[in-house]
Amino acid sequence: MQDNIETFKKILETVHCVKNIDETVAAVLKKLLFCPFCSEYFTETPALKNHIKKDHPDRLKSKTVSAVNHEVNEDSETIYICPHCYFAVDDNCPSPTSSIIDHIQKHASSIDPTARISFQISNDKKLIQKYVVGKVKNELFCCSFCSDIFSDQESLLRHISFKHSDIDPENVPHETMKLIMDCAKDFPTGKKAKAKYKSTAYSF
Ligand SMILES: [Zn+2]
Ligand SMILES: [Zn+2]
Ligand SMILES: [Zn+2]
Repeated sequence: MQDNIETFKKILETVHCVKNIDETVAAVLKKLLFCPFCSEYFTETPALKNHIKKDHPDRLKSKTVSAVNHEVNEDSETIYICPHCYFAVDDNCPSPTSSIIDHIQKHASSIDPTARISFQISNDKKLIQKYVVGKVKNELFCCSFCSDIFSDQESLLRHISFKHSDIDPENVPHETMKLIMDCAKDFPTGKKAKAKYKSTAYSF
């Protein structure tokens, strides 16, 4: 997306309760989604996702990760598997269902708060043995900004758009910041002046 005065003006129309230009600029920045890999920004999540897919596909590649992190023991009969990173707990755990749910909830909060909690239950002896000897390997999608991992590309994309699209005002490209400042500079006073004028007119 090009720097666009119309876009900033549209966003300003939705901004409320700002007292000065700094707050106004912060409110505009909050509504923009910045690509964490370059300086592009968007107003809609699908546009940011498409941009990342098209321009930064190397950041969305999967890699083979061994499931070293698990609580599966030799004598396990049933295991409960996280669908995101294949972490597993076994039936020796006092409350395997709540352990796996607690674990999955951490992923859910990193994707989006409405992400569904579901897990796989397996009695597969071969799979259990693979866990025990550390031979479970999976193709996983790892976030390059934090330690979160995902089982599919779409979840990683959702996570990046949700968690890593905010920007520190100091890192906003100079030209973009200047344009936002130009649009925002008359904004709070402009609104106040209008309100004042109205109330004066009313008292006549
Ligand atoms: Zn980008
Ligand atoms: Zn997991
Ligand atoms: Zn991340």
